[in-house]
Amino acid sequence: MDGPGNQIDQALIGLERLNALLRAQSWGEDGTPPLHPAQRSLVLALSGHGKGLRSGELATRLGVSAPSVSDSLRTLEAKGWVQRKPDPDDGRAWRMSLTASGQKLARRLQDPAAGLGPLLQALPERELGQFLRVIQLMMREAQQRGLASGLRTCLGCAFFRPYASSDPKQPHLCAYLGAPFGDAQLRVDCAEQQPQSEEALALAVQRFRDAVPS
Ligand code: SF4
Repeated sequence: MDGPGNQIDQALIGLERLNALLRAQSWGEDGTPPLHPAQRSLVLALSGHGKGLRSGELATRLGVSAPSVSDSLRTLEAKGWVQRKPDPDDGRAWRMSLTASGQKLARRLQDPAAGLGPLLQALPERELGQFLRVIQLMMREAQQRGLASGLRTCLGCAFFRPYASSDPKQPHLCAYLGAPFGDAQLRVDCAEQQPQSEEALALAVQRFRDAVPS
């Protein structure tokens, strides 16, 4: 039996391999141009933010340095996928948003038939739910360690009520939608997300981790 160190090594190798698969895939098949992973992350982060985000917000959200975000944004602007407009809240600042062709590109990148989508689609709902659970917890850990902020996950949301539903197949509740849902419907990036206080978040994480809450 492997020790915990080895298990983490294996998990890291698995993540690296999946990342390599994602990079190696041919985006050209459907006419989508090849994108550096950092640029891809930016396009996806800007998707759904019609009013745009400041480059500092993008850097924090993605857990990367401001200069690296600026470089990638310049490239995306030059390609016509990203535009900058004056920030209505601060005349000295800029907001970055997707152009119409940038939005088209984002839709292609999010196509479930592209990239790792087919591999995820092959997972039964239960396993997909477990995967999304792990993502929620890892993103929470990244946030706690100061590696990222402004994430819009269910676990960090004031509307999230883990294990508050009496339906074992849909054990969580979204107070915004007023509906129960299961692990496979956990949102990693939800436009309706409302951040909650650290105290409430710690309780939600504890309850989320407990498969059978007290
Ligand atoms: S509002 Fe969005 S992020 Fe919040 S609990 Fe509902 S689905 Fe999840």
